[in-house]
Amino acid sequence: MRMPEKGLPKDRIFAELEAKREHDPRKDEARTFGLTFYVDPELTHVVEEANRRFLFDNGLDPTVYRSFLNLEREIVAMSAAHLGGDHDVVGNATSGGTESILIAVKAARDRARKARGIAEPQMLVPVSAHAAFFKAAQYFDIELITIPCDPVTLTPSLDDYRSRLTDRTALIVGSAPSYAHGVMDPIADLSALAVEHDLWLHVDGCIGGFLLPFLRDLGAPVPAFDFSLPGVTSISMDFHKYGFSAKGSSVVLYRNADARRYAIFACSEWTGYTVINPVVQSTRSGGPLAATWAALHHLGREGYLAVAKELLDTAKRLHEGIDAVPGLKIMGKPVMSLLAFTSTDSAVGIYRLGDALAARHWHVQPQFGSDGTPPSLHLTIMPKNAANVDEFLADLRAAVEDVRKGPAENPLLGMVPMLTPEAVASGAVNIEEMVAGMAGGGDVPDELAPLNELLERLDSSVRNRILTAFFNGLVGIQT
Ligand SMILES: *Cc1c(COP(=O)(O)O)cnc(C)c1O
Repeated sequence: MRMPEKGLPKDRIFAELEAKREHDPRKDEARTFGLTFYVDPELTHVVEEANRRFLFDNGLDPTVYRSFLNLEREIVAMSAAHLGGDHDVVGNATSGGTESILIAVKAARDRARKARGIAEPQMLVPVSAHAAFFKAAQYFDIELITIPCDPVTLTPSLDDYRSRLTDRTALIVGSAPSYAHGVMDPIADLSALAVEHDLWLHVDGCIGGFLLPFLRDLGAPVPAFDFSLPGVTSISMDFHKYGFSAKGSSVVLYRNADARRYAIFACSEWTGYTVINPVVQSTRSGGPLAATWAALHHLGREGYLAVAKELLDTAKRLHEGIDAVPGLKIMGKPVMSLLAFTSTDSAVGIYRLGDALAARHWHVQPQFGSDGTPPSLHLTIMPKNAANVDEFLADLRAAVEDVRKGPAENPLLGMVPMLTPEAVASGAVNIEEMVAGMAGGGDVPDELAPLNELLERLDSSVRNRILTAFFNGLVGIQT
């Protein structure tokens, strides 16, 4: 494909762009549990308009776009106050949870190297922590030590952190709550451990940091997880999730400027302008920042409290409704509006159930299990789900019956014995060829269950190779 020689009229452009969305989920229907966060047309308008006005502004040089600096300061200040921070807390706006986590991990690594003399730092991360920590470990060449989670509570124990501490431990991580199962890690215990051993503790509040204080105000039992705990060094919190801002908005907060020092990259060696980047990006759009500022001011605490109440009530109804379906079970003790459920009936394959729900136009996320934790389906609940809980539960019960009746055989499973790490490493099996044959010409398959059932039986190194090959083929040349 080549770009058109002559420009097209704007009406045609927007018509063609809208046509591309034909198969995308509609956010106002709330049938996709995750990915998009939506309250109502009014907030959407406010966020879109703020985003549009600042989209071309650049936070690259805060001495030029003063508005960027000002918006960032106010958003950071509001975030710090929201998360029990005092006037020492500093922070920055980022493009999302992953960027907030990457930069916090980088800072923790550099603090360990410079302040504690640890040449090859390690980080202790529960298996339930977001993949962004695994990514950070890979990108920044830090040894990642995983902490197992209890198969019932889905949380790591303090003893398991303790037993893995070494004189190279730089960073410990806890989630508030975990994305996968929506359960709280023992952050107060981790805080005490961090203080005792001079460790950097990052609390991943990407999905929960913003909502949890509102839930606490509503009387829900929310344990301390923020800067009120003395050992918490940094927190990530996303606005493009339950802050209902535009995509591309999160903050990373540090207990003080000394911690943030290790995040900042300054470069005056090249022949161009002076670079001082507190985050991963250099050019930063003002759009998402203005959108977040607008959302915070449009809803206000009162507006967010009302949304939080609706989410809490809806989560309770879904929790009880799912638990009441024979053969299904909610995992752990979810604290907010994230739920995961598993199948306790061997005739109901969990990934098949995901496909059966998709056939009924509900999109949930399949999650692999690990270390005795069963695989599950994940729901991130939206305010609009308040209106469709009963419809979802009826479809869920029907989907369970579909799976019970449906064929369970999976021809892909015949490949399991061949797909050993040794066979893949030696080139005895060609992953690229195999995936090209399986994926049917690079399109997104309708049924994901057969593939997921295969993947979950493989060593994670092989699994990651297959996923890489699959994605490498998916986003390629379009004719
Ligand atoms: C979403 C999420 C992330 C990653 O954030 P992105 O904005 O998708 O990059 C990290 N941690 C948790 C707990 C999350 O929910």
